[in-house]
Amino acid sequence: MKKLFKSKSENFVVSSIIENDVIDRTSLSKVTGMSLPAISKIVRNLIDRGIVEEIGTSTSSGGRKPILLKFNSYYRFAIGIKIGLGYVYVIVTDFVGNVILRFAEHFDRTANPENTLMRLLEKSKERIKSSGIEIKKIIGIGVAISGSVDQEKGTLIFSSILGWENVEISKIFNKVMKVPVVVLNDVKSFTLAQVWKGAKKEYKNFLVVTIGTGIGLGIVTGRKLYVGNGNAGEFGHIVVNSDGEKCTCGRKGCLETEVSFGALVRKIKARDNFEIDKVISVSRENEGEETLLQILRITKEKNESLFKSSFENFKKFLGTALVDLVNIFNPPLIILGGEALEFGEYFIKDVSNYIHDNAFNAFGKNVEIAEDTLGEDAWSFGVIYLLIQQAFGKEPIIKEVMIKEKS
Ligand SMILES: [Zn+2]
Repeated sequence: MKKLFKSKSENFVVSSIIENDVIDRTSLSKVTGMSLPAISKIVRNLIDRGIVEEIGTSTSSGGRKPILLKFNSYYRFAIGIKIGLGYVYVIVTDFVGNVILRFAEHFDRTANPENTLMRLLEKSKERIKSSGIEIKKIIGIGVAISGSVDQEKGTLIFSSILGWENVEISKIFNKVMKVPVVVLNDVKSFTLAQVWKGAKKEYKNFLVVTIGTGIGLGIVTGRKLYVGNGNAGEFGHIVVNSDGEKCTCGRKGCLETEVSFGALVRKIKARDNFEIDKVISVSRENEGEETLLQILRITKEKNESLFKSSFENFKKFLGTALVDLVNIFNPPLIILGGEALEFGEYFIKDVSNYIHDNAFNAFGKNVEIAEDTLGEDAWSFGVIYLLIQQAFGKEPIIKEVMIKEKS
């Protein structure tokens, strides 16, 4: 990605202004350790380019009142797009992450992914334009998608939930908008959002587990995302029940076949005494995310005791798997997220107690189990954070360990 700032010192000055919200030149010289003439020169240049603005004077007693500087957050904008099953959720933020625009678009999930994505971005571009945001001020598009991703090429390798394979997202989007495109697995984007805007962002090391249609894991170490060889965190595909249901990955009894919306609905249907199929028509083909959620909400409302009891295995398998995670990582914090939080009262307390009682040694007692507070926005926030960090020449993903493909 093209860097927005000319030098390391300019980068540092801009970051310091953002961090302090408003600051005068003398204080800026103190916090950066740079000389006043050097600061003045850089600031003059930043003002000329519209990056920094002078916004009046401070109320200092005696002498000349220092002029206050503020970063112009409308200098640039970033787009974050979460691609879900049959919909995209788009967020546009200014350069410090304030949400300027937020909307969803729906698509036919049986249609060709290339055409679908191109049409969706064209539509989104029009909406962004008509909101008054200048397209030329957009630093890039971040894409969060379920499945394995080649971050270097900006390609989706495979998504079992979407049923898409080898989709060159970066290339497709560049046909509509000539800006840098970053593509990241959606759980990883969700995890970076916690580092950036999460209620527990003071933690340097933590894990994020998302539960919904699938199960995902994000690993944060030193405020950076650990991705291993590119796609670490396929926690949903550890086998927890070898006699279990067949998983989309081909194996049997993966965690996400036992602990997911699909698993809950299977339990409900097996014990259903109000004949849910009459309430909502469900066929194998339309058991998408929304249908499953609808079934769960209806069951909760019409037959809460059945709903509650459908969580028995869910809690057992989730608790066991999380104890394994705690034993491996000994993390200070696990953030639970995803659509299943809507039903958090039916499992989180029991699962937390299970972890506290069953993890190795005192590991369980020292781990805090927290709930995500960002909700749907988190999926798109992470990729926006990635774009903004990269504009500053920073990399929030640990890439040193990535092994290049042998040619
Ligand atoms: Zn699997």
